[in-house]
Amino acid sequence: MLYDAAVIGAGPAGITAALYLVRSGVSVALIENGAPGGQVLSTAEIENYPGFPKGVKGWELADLFDAHLAAYPVARVRGEVASVSSAEGGLFRIALTEGEGLEAKAVVVCTGAKHRDLGAPGEDQFRGRGVSYCAVCDGNFYRGRDVVVVGGGNSALEEALYLSRIVNKVYLVHRRDAFRGARVYEDKIRETNNIELVTKSVIDEICGGPAGMDSVIVRHVESGETRTIEAEGLFVYVGMLPVSAFLPGEVTKDAVGFILTDAEMCTSVPGIFAAGDVRSKRCRQVSSAVGDGATAATAALTYLEHWNA
Ligand code: NAP
Repeated sequence: MLYDAAVIGAGPAGITAALYLVRSGVSVALIENGAPGGQVLSTAEIENYPGFPKGVKGWELADLFDAHLAAYPVARVRGEVASVSSAEGGLFRIALTEGEGLEAKAVVVCTGAKHRDLGAPGEDQFRGRGVSYCAVCDGNFYRGRDVVVVGGGNSALEEALYLSRIVNKVYLVHRRDAFRGARVYEDKIRETNNIELVTKSVIDEICGGPAGMDSVIVRHVESGETRTIEAEGLFVYVGMLPVSAFLPGEVTKDAVGFILTDAEMCTSVPGIFAAGDVRSKRCRQVSSAVGDGATAATAALTYLEHWNA
């Protein structure tokens, strides 16, 4: 099938891009791998998206985004993109890992980012048996128990707060004493009586037995002193990696693989645009992803006008 535009990824950026494109009268395929919403779905509560002064649950916002798009004739294609390549006549060929691919005149990449592994011994062994990357998905397994959260960004702070309402105690392990996440979360954490801050510390090992993990060994980065924290769960929030490996080498990325764009969301390849967390940028928010999606769609529409001329 040939579409004017293919949008890859159905998080806030992708849904917004698809919405803007379809409302402008072009044919759009939205290729979605997971459920609509992307990372929003694994976020408990979103407090900084305008229009929701009391906050909104991640799944609720994802549902609203999806319901908004459902009113329009967008072709929803389920699948994982294996590659994007140039095809004859200035088209792009989008191959899926399974099933029929498609062709498009313009491509908007909104594939976001995935969690980064901690890289500590025991992580692979206890993955899914204590080690988790999603507090919303797995937090309830640890109701009334003790857990560790590692990281110092917004994800670690937010999810430590979320977990503190479910579990007995949260140990928040961070390698520095200053947090990267927003001050508002740090203040809330300091007001919470069941989150212990374990700063200037790293996790040397995740320990346990056949039943799953039971503790982590933490080392102070200055004194070198180690401490064993008994906990049945470890939630890892040490940053994100872009989902961009399927793109052709001509699409310029930064050292980690985040896509470089200009302010209009144009990549180094004319006709390929990028929006949301997959872009190389500082601000990764639902609101900035939505803005990126609208900007990318606008740039793609301009590109399509020239394509059709
Ligand atoms: P992030 O902001 O990149 O923070 C990653 C954290 O993990 C940093 O504190 C970092 O420490 C630490 N870290 C990295 N590698 C580590 C390692 N090997 N061992 C121990 N600690 C390590 O990642 P994120 O929190 O997942 O957030 C990703 C993006 O989404 C950010 O732009 C964030 O603002 C955004 N986000 C926003 C919200 C919100 O606004 N509500 C919620 C979630 C995410 P250092 O600080 O020392 O580098």
